[in-house]
Amino acid sequence: MLVPWRKVHSWHCVACGRCCREYRVPLRFYEYLKLRGTGFVEERAGKFYIRKIGGICPFQHGNLCVLQGELKPTACKLYPFNVRRKGDELAEFEYEGEVFYVYVDVSTCPNVVLGKPSFMMRKLVEEAVQIYLGEKRSIDYITARGVGYEGFVKQKRYGKTARVGGARNE
Ligand code: SF4
Ligand code: SF4
Repeated sequence: MLVPWRKVHSWHCVACGRCCREYRVPLRFYEYLKLRGTGFVEERAGKFYIRKIGGICPFQHGNLCVLQGELKPTACKLYPFNVRRKGDELAEFEYEGEVFYVYVDVSTCPNVVLGKPSFMMRKLVEEAVQIYLGEKRSIDYITARGVGYEGFVKQKRYGKTARVGGARNE
């Protein structure tokens, strides 16, 4: 369920990986093209997604995501935020003279606290809009960090065990 950001006091990520297991991740077309070589993406009725394997995202390693920076899909960087061009008054967020509508998914993540938005909540919403616009590729406030795709490939190649501890890492 999505609620307008003005009804959310705070959110933080403890890297439990639950959201990565619950959702099928939509991709922008250029993201689909970037990840096509992995074999873990699919097209359905003109829309693009990460293809789940055995019900889980193939890029999830332990609780961590192996896709870092430019490789991480926008939907993953944004979660649990959902930015739209139309919406309710309570979801309005003005950024550089433009109005966006920002919602928070409260159905999966256990760390969304409803109430009056905190100062940090506003920073998170601003960052979500910047990521949505593609102005910001890295994440300062949303989520933790992990092993990275190169680390993942190395671990696969040399059979090492990954250090885990974060899911929607940048
Ligand atoms: S955002 Fe995802 S990984 Fe982070 S705490 Fe919420 S459900 Fe867990
Ligand atoms: S954050 Fe990474 S592991 Fe989680 S759904 Fe997205 S691509 Fe998969």
